[in-house]
Amino acid sequence: MSSPVHDVIIIGGGPAGLTAGLYASRAKLDTLLLERMLMGGQVMTTTKVENYPGFPGGIDGPDLMLRFQEHCQEFGLQVRYAEVENLIDEGEEKVVIVDGQEVRGRTVIITTGAEPRKLGIPGEKELTGRGVSYCATCDGAFFRNVPVAVVGGGDTAAEEALFLTRFASKVYLIHRRDQLRATRILQDRVAANEKIETVWHTLVERTEGDAAGLKAIEVRHLQDGTKRSLEVQGLFVAIGVTPKAHFLADILQLDAEGYILTDAECRTSMPGVFAAGDVRKKILKQIATAVGDGAVAAIMAEKYLEDI
Ligand code: NAP
Repeated sequence: MSSPVHDVIIIGGGPAGLTAGLYASRAKLDTLLLERMLMGGQVMTTTKVENYPGFPGGIDGPDLMLRFQEHCQEFGLQVRYAEVENLIDEGEEKVVIVDGQEVRGRTVIITTGAEPRKLGIPGEKELTGRGVSYCATCDGAFFRNVPVAVVGGGDTAAEEALFLTRFASKVYLIHRRDQLRATRILQDRVAANEKIETVWHTLVERTEGDAAGLKAIEVRHLQDGTKRSLEVQGLFVAIGVTPKAHFLADILQLDAEGYILTDAECRTSMPGVFAAGDVRKKILKQIATAVGDGAVAAIMAEKYLEDI
């Protein structure tokens, strides 16, 4: 028996994917969402979301994502946990290869998001999980009453530094310039927090540790070239994200950084294939904009289906 052809296949279960799933299933389209691991995407590693409208006082990231999932269930969104390996264009049908099997759809919405960028310094890989981390929400509580460092200057670095002050004895916030990129409200909170020491014009060049874990990091001042060692047991890397679109490099048009290129209506270079959220090239990466993208992509998929 041949497998059904879905109206919409969504790849990725973060805010963009779940919103696309909500819109498409509510429009009574046969919609399947494929998620590799855990629903909710990057928001699952966010302690408090303060800028998603409708939640004065903020809401925990995982709680918000649970609400998104429950909302999708109301409209019967089908979900399968599996890793997508390839996407093949067969004209009016798209073939998604999932764990070696074919899943067919008339449209595909890619919402695979982004993942933390690595520093690429000696020891980083070996000490990941033993002092080096990419998620303060996940690992922060292991670092009680010891000094830690955060590297980066964006919203994530500022939020992680602030979160880590709950546990650590001291938090170095190491940034390569003399001004944070983070929003003003976060900059002010960082400046006001006595546990945070901001280390400007500085790069982390090396980690020092052994089987027991991280012992110190070597940092270099970019203006005078001086090097010094900071004794920290945790290093939280928050230097931005990289899109999860490698498997599409030969299939869709991507920009130099690997983001999927779309028009304003989330159409990719392949007819019937849309991209939404952090995986697509756009100016503002927020839950609110991912949600907006997800809605647009689902409506555009519906229109595409009407046209064919
Ligand atoms: P980001 O805004 O891209 O910031 C990355 C930071 O890391 C920058 O300060 C950058 O320095 C620094 N950096 C990059 N490569 C580096 C390297 N190799 N060595 C040292 N430093 C390096 O990334 P993000 O903070 O992860 O945020 C990603 C997106 O999510 C942003 O659009 C952000 O606004 C959004 N976000 C929003 C919230 C919120 O609204 N609450 C929370 C988290 C994230 P330069 O400044 O010199 O470029």
